[in-house]
Amino acid sequence: MKIDTKCLHEGYQPQNGEPRQIPIYQSTTFRYDSSEEMGKLFDLERSGYFYSRLQNPTNDAVAAKIAAMEGGVAGMLTSSGQAANFFAVFNICEAGDHFIASSAIYGGTYNLFGVTMKKMGIECTFVDPHISEEELEHCFRPNTKCIFGETITNPTVGIFDIEKFAAIAHRHGVPLIIDNTFATPVNCRPIEWGCDIVTHSTTKYMDGHGVAVGGVIVDSGRFDWEAHAEKFPGLTTPDASYHGLTYTKKFGKLAYITKATSQLMRDLGAIQSPQNAFYLQLGLESLAVRMKRHCDNALAVARFLKSRDEVAWVRYAGLEDDSDHALAQKYCPQGTCGVLAFALKGSREKAEKFMDSLQLAIIATHVADARTCLLHPASHTHRQLSDEQLKEAGVDKDLIRFSIGLEDPQDIIDDIRQALIASEA
Ligand SMILES: *Cc1c(COP(=O)(O)O)cnc(C)c1O
Repeated sequence: MKIDTKCLHEGYQPQNGEPRQIPIYQSTTFRYDSSEEMGKLFDLERSGYFYSRLQNPTNDAVAAKIAAMEGGVAGMLTSSGQAANFFAVFNICEAGDHFIASSAIYGGTYNLFGVTMKKMGIECTFVDPHISEEELEHCFRPNTKCIFGETITNPTVGIFDIEKFAAIAHRHGVPLIIDNTFATPVNCRPIEWGCDIVTHSTTKYMDGHGVAVGGVIVDSGRFDWEAHAEKFPGLTTPDASYHGLTYTKKFGKLAYITKATSQLMRDLGAIQSPQNAFYLQLGLESLAVRMKRHCDNALAVARFLKSRDEVAWVRYAGLEDDSDHALAQKYCPQGTCGVLAFALKGSREKAEKFMDSLQLAIIATHVADARTCLLHPASHTHRQLSDEQLKEAGVDKDLIRFSIGLEDPQDIIDDIRQALIASEA
């Protein structure tokens, strides 16, 4: 199946007389005939459902769809994108470990890695995504456990060189984890470029309509944990909390997702609600169609902004003269996403006047929505970062993040034009 078809048909195939749409299993628990049968589920001797803090059939069908779209072997839905990125790293890192992350990532992830996980004894080195291979080599330590990056960086909308980072990660016996939120598997499938684990904030394009916060982790099933067993004892040595079961021995290619589900989800409980998984499923059905429109609209807006005297610069990798255009053509040949970044000439007040004068586009802490919205990261999502951290994350203090929706492009452009004129008045 091609990706457009997968959006509709993967994950759930009803049998004779069963509901066409995925049922919402709105149930915390599941009934069993015998105590012995349920005991086997708790020992991971048999697969099945017993409590919706760990697993739920609605979620699993939606996760299976996303895993198929990404070309992975298994997936797990989480309550948010933050939870997905935390679980993805924490599943293979513990106190005393270290990992490397691109500095050009979402502000929330930057805080999670740089502040909160540090308190748990896990250290993160942030690197410029354009770092040379030689410099990156020097960032590795004996206790380094993974590399993390975003396909299309939020909010700077640069393109991450997945193949380059995958090669270096594998040379050091660690996996590459990619947050593929902005590109979506419609426009880029990082696993095809050597990435081992993919995460998403499904809150963004996958839902696409601003209704449900959620996340997902997809495992390619390709990373050989046993080959680097000493680095990943959580996967390759007995788990005391499951009577000494070893994930890689018992579950093979499903070891990583099984551990994330049966250990992390059991203990931390950040599962997506089945109701939200159902909304996510509805969004996924139209994802391929929507991404094309988002990209077409964003390119039209980027070209318009570039043509205006009031605009200082525009960042959109779909533009032929963008510094990451070649990377975009390699990794996202059908288009990048609907998000672009730009700055106005002149004062901060002028930028605020521009934003406040928009009538169709709204100011919202959201991105990748069906409706055009925007925000100013330095005052909003990245407010907690110091000037120096902003600089490290490549976020210009004047940067305005514009998320282009599915409206008629002429209406979006007309709105921007009138707001630009109002900001000059
Ligand atoms: C929004 C976002 C997140 C966080 O996801 P939530 O669903 O808001 O928790 C992570 N990564 C990227 C790239 C994002 O845009």
